[in-house]
Amino acid sequence: MILSERIKDTKASVTLKVNEKINRMVQDGKHIYNMTSGQLPFKPCSDFISSITKQTNFLKSYQYSPISGIPELRDKFFEYTSERREINLKECDVSMDCIISNGAKHSLYNVFGALINPGDEVIILTPYYVSYPEIIKFWGGIPTIVKAQAFNSYTPAIDEIESAITKKTKAIIINSPNNPAGIHYSDNWMKEFGSILKKYPDVMAVSDELYSELNYFDPKPTFFYQYDKSLLPQTIIVDSISKSFAATGLRIGYCIADASLTKAMAKIQSQTTSGPNSLIQRALIEFDFNELENLFDPVKAQLRECAQTVRLAFRDAKLSNSYYQTNSAFYYLLDFSRMPFFKNLENSEQEDRSKEIVEDILERTGIALVPGSAFGYPNSARMSMTLEIAPFKEAIDKLTDYISDKDSKTG
Ligand code: PMP
Repeated sequence: MILSERIKDTKASVTLKVNEKINRMVQDGKHIYNMTSGQLPFKPCSDFISSITKQTNFLKSYQYSPISGIPELRDKFFEYTSERREINLKECDVSMDCIISNGAKHSLYNVFGALINPGDEVIILTPYYVSYPEIIKFWGGIPTIVKAQAFNSYTPAIDEIESAITKKTKAIIINSPNNPAGIHYSDNWMKEFGSILKKYPDVMAVSDELYSELNYFDPKPTFFYQYDKSLLPQTIIVDSISKSFAATGLRIGYCIADASLTKAMAKIQSQTTSGPNSLIQRALIEFDFNELENLFDPVKAQLRECAQTVRLAFRDAKLSNSYYQTNSAFYYLLDFSRMPFFKNLENSEQEDRSKEIVEDILERTGIALVPGSAFGYPNSARMSMTLEIAPFKEAIDKLTDYISDKDSKTG
């Protein structure tokens, strides 16, 4: 079988490989601290679950939805976003609209399918969500990478973003709060980003806001367009119920942007997936989004404790060089290249050793992480802070032992 060049260039998800190995180890009776998860280990609000159950009684729940989603729910997501961001998205020079898709990843595919021509450039900031470069390349675009560093809490420099803009730049993707860094960019950063964007009216800013509700240390995440409504015509907001409703498997995402873009996205959707899941859309229409307010309280308390645990453990192990403070989402990115044991590895400067280190950690300590190369950040690993507190603390003890003394890697 001769497959397309397009698919040959597409990378498969890294977590699949890691999970195969974890499963084998579990079968062999080994205890694993699985810190690879991209989702929270709990169910959505009970009222939402009840409305799904109720909607199973109606014929319409099983029939095609309108291509762009049910208008009532599109309006509801639009209002909800306006409310949560404290900005009237209707007060804009262009007419903003909402289109619903099968998850935010699907929204992103449609955004770039509607936006870029082959050869167009899209700026992405490391560490980045694994799918961005693949989505851009799938549509013939060229990802331009701007790097952030652990010592800057993984916040990219605004002037470097501006230097990366060329005549071919079509868009910049901003993901704040960030997967995999677990931070959000500061208020000041957002203001400065907005002033850069204003200078380039043909460059669009895709704001991936999936983790906006998952902030556990003040200040809250903010967004560049909140300070300057005149940037809204250049703004493409992508969001989803995956993280903020704790419903990754229900596959509902949405995009808010200039109606000329959402209409173009609807064309792609009409010839690919058709409208999103009718049952879940109908349940969402009935569900009171105010119920979400307290959904994350226990999770945030747990995340705060996990983040403190990492800080204290790394401080006590004198790993201050590789420590930073997380405040949002539920990830921590370990930058191995700044850790003492890394200096003892051969060729450490040139090569990316993420996979090798992550495998060694798994074998010696039972801790499963995602290699950071997948996020465009070599010699690092993503750690999800989704374990219960007790096993999380155990895992961090083992991890700090591993990191701080390469001779005591016994686990
Ligand atoms: N963007 C980011 C930053 C993500 O972390 C994810 C999922 N992990 C997605 C988009 C895709 O989300 P969805 O489940 O809604 O497709």
